[in-house]
Amino acid sequence: MQKMDVVIIGGGMVGLTLAAALGQSTLRVAVISHSAFTETLSAAPSLRVSAINEANHEALERLQVWQYLPADRVAPYQHMHVWDKDSFGHIHFDASDMQRPKLGHIIENQVLTNALAEQIQHLRNVTLIEAGVDKILAGDQETMLMLNNDEVVSCRLLVGADGANSMVRRHAGFPETFRDYDHRAIVATIRTPQPHEACARQVFTPDGPLAFLPLNDPHVCSVVWSQQTDKAEALMALSDTDFAHAMTAACNSELGSVALESDRRAFTLTMRYARQWADNGVAIIGDAAHTIHPLAGQGANLGMQDALVLADHLVQLHENGLPLGRYKHLRAFERARKTEAMKMIAAMDGFKALFDGDNPLKKLVRSTGLAVTNELPLVKRKLIEQAMGF
Ligand SMILES: Cc1cc2nc3c(=O)[nH]c(=O)nc-3n(C[C@H](O)[C@H](O)[C@H](O)COP(=O)(O)OP(=O)(O)OC[C@H]3O[C@@H](n4cnc5c(N)ncnc54)[C@H](O)[C@@H]3O)c2cc1C
Repeated sequence: MQKMDVVIIGGGMVGLTLAAALGQSTLRVAVISHSAFTETLSAAPSLRVSAINEANHEALERLQVWQYLPADRVAPYQHMHVWDKDSFGHIHFDASDMQRPKLGHIIENQVLTNALAEQIQHLRNVTLIEAGVDKILAGDQETMLMLNNDEVVSCRLLVGADGANSMVRRHAGFPETFRDYDHRAIVATIRTPQPHEACARQVFTPDGPLAFLPLNDPHVCSVVWSQQTDKAEALMALSDTDFAHAMTAACNSELGSVALESDRRAFTLTMRYARQWADNGVAIIGDAAHTIHPLAGQGANLGMQDALVLADHLVQLHENGLPLGRYKHLRAFERARKTEAMKMIAAMDGFKALFDGDNPLKKLVRSTGLAVTNELPLVKRKLIEQAMGF
């Protein structure tokens, strides 16, 4: 049996960020994932990408993970342009307004998890275990995990970073609140005749937002097109050419006539949050604790911050000789991160409600709001600080 202080179930961006952050301590840590920790990258960019904010970029530099990201698969962006289709409302953000070289980076999820796993392989106190979990047996002082490779691992704290359908959340019996956004997000890679100029663009259409995330090739973007479910199904049923035409029309040919460079995949979008995040011997972070609409590209960013805050908390408990798995010591973490997640969920709900539909009054409010905000440097600065995670 392997005896650990902390076992993390889930080898996604969030679980691995926690492991990397705990790598700076003397805690014995294991990460269990039923899928491979690293994967060989295909030549073409994968469909799942994330806009990683500057707060998390700095954290990944500190944790010595950033150095393992292949430079040709990390795309910095200096500008953001958001506009309301069919109205005069638009807002433009520039990194120079913040006296910074960039606003964030677009990174394929697999590229980031590969880099995290590569750094973790250099950490003596962290073990990566590729296996499924058959059984979780929670005791008073420790939790035992029976793995499907016949190994048994024990720990003082079990952390669920195992995504939206978290087994750990279910095992702990943490109640959930969830609501269907009635949106599906279609993701794809596209080629554009006009260069993206390192600008992340998002147009709000009455049926949902369409985001263009600039990749390394100046003519290639990853797109996330969130649409009401019936509209998304109709778009998925189109031929590649008709789909590309529909996208070109949706963004008023902002980058010219786009062409598809990949398959399309659609994701059902659900707002979900766990009403409890910790108990004796167990905590949850990342999508296991909350899922939000991708319209502001904040889900993974929020989850990585959960991981960093939890790591700080656990290191402090350990240094002060306090038990890791007592709920009373995990409460401060739970309170702080739940508050951040709730604020983000409320903000996404507000954005979605304001930009949904073509009610003339709402249209006036949002176009005026965007146009006025664009002229208010202090308000713009506040918004961009939020987007950058500061
Ligand atoms: C279309 C779309 C676009 C998005 N864009 C952005 C963006 O631009 N920026 C951003 O910040 N966020 C974005 N997000 C959100 C982001 O993708 C998620 O928040 C993030 O991937 C969550 O990471 P995670 O590690 O918590 O969970 P996951 O990525 O789901 O990882 C969970 C891991 O746990 C493993 N696992 C699960 N169950 C078990 C088990 N029982 N045993 C062992 N292992 C297990 C899985 O194999 C997986 O490796 C987007 C989401 C969508 C749908």
